[in-house]
Amino acid sequence: MKQPAYDLASLRKEFPILAREVNGKPLVYLDNAATSQKPLAVIQAMDDYYRHTNANIHRGLHTLSQEATDAHELAREKVQGFINAASSKEVIFTRGTTESINLVAQSWGRANLKAGDQVMLSMMEHHANIVPWQMLREQLGIELVIIPILANGSLDMDAFFQLLTPKVKFLAITQVSNALGTVTSLAAIIPMAKALGIPVLVDGAQAIPHQAIDVQALDADFYVFSAHKMYGPTGIGVLYGKEALLEAMPPWQGGGDMIDVVTFEKTTYAKLPHKFEAGTPAIADAIGLGAAVDWMQRVGADAIGAWEHELLVYATAQMKAQLSGLRILGEAPNKVGVISFVLDGAHAQDIGLLTDQLGVALRTGHHCAMPVLHHLGVDATARVSFAAYNTLEEVDVFVAALKRVREMLI
Ligand code: PLP
Repeated sequence: MKQPAYDLASLRKEFPILAREVNGKPLVYLDNAATSQKPLAVIQAMDDYYRHTNANIHRGLHTLSQEATDAHELAREKVQGFINAASSKEVIFTRGTTESINLVAQSWGRANLKAGDQVMLSMMEHHANIVPWQMLREQLGIELVIIPILANGSLDMDAFFQLLTPKVKFLAITQVSNALGTVTSLAAIIPMAKALGIPVLVDGAQAIPHQAIDVQALDADFYVFSAHKMYGPTGIGVLYGKEALLEAMPPWQGGGDMIDVVTFEKTTYAKLPHKFEAGTPAIADAIGLGAAVDWMQRVGADAIGAWEHELLVYATAQMKAQLSGLRILGEAPNKVGVISFVLDGAHAQDIGLLTDQLGVALRTGHHCAMPVLHHLGVDATARVSFAAYNTLEEVDVFVAALKRVREMLI
């Protein structure tokens, strides 16, 4: 078994919450796909901002306002570097992945799609990348076309090639499935779509915590993610978009900060990125996201992903060896550290409640991906998902907890 490229014991000390107990047991936090824990660097950056700098940005001439504006815009530049965007104008702050996708659907979608046009999604999208397009279907009469998956949870690439007809005008696809852990083959998919002139949105919510992302190498037109899944705060996320596309798109929400000149007769809009950032933004959260970017760059996104892969391989092997009646949903060859599973005779909710009694935090339910679970014949699964700070010992505690659950329920 390989060791992490970083000092795991000292990295864990950076996360105060990992020292707490739950139900009298040390916390074993395995719900990282829902949200990750936050290192001191992020907590302190936000605390520091509120203690020393807090002011509204972009409008004030006073010192605090200028310092707050600088800190907010520095966070944008950090994100630009982190994803290798060509310009900080291409980094729009939103409330998260969900809001970013809604922005693209409502702004780009309404301006460019018409009845009968197809938007292509995959079977394993999160509801955040399904429902905004269904709303657009109701509004415009577009059609949705769904790329199916194979039994092991991989994308059905043959079906993708067949479905990719000239009727498809937009492709919105996840890079990693939150329910199955599958990594989609974007290196094959995006060039095919681009060859047909189809713009591509990549949902990177579950990818960016685990690997270095280069939006230019990926050639995605839009790339969206949430800070809270990559060690940053809730309430902020990113819409990356290619400048020419963003430039041509109408604003989505109107209000302060996104305008140039307002009269009752006519309003002109601010330049990118502010055109898409109406109202007072989540300033402290942007600064927290910037600190999370610094933290991930210090530890190394690829080093984090490599260690999580070790945890995935170890946990999968231990579960299979020690648990009868186990079914893992999603065993694609290319997976991140997510294991969705069911146990014969044990309802997912009971697994969640009983493992919580033993200090283990995992997620149960439909994981906001009902269509793919229904396709695989289940309503709910239990899911563990790993982060930089998880240990092999925690995997052992989790597997032992599951064995206890089996004994209690069966
Ligand atoms: N897309 C994927 C793949 C996700 O896993 C999630 C959250 O679980 C989302 C989108 C939605 O993210 P948020 O709730 O932060 O907007």
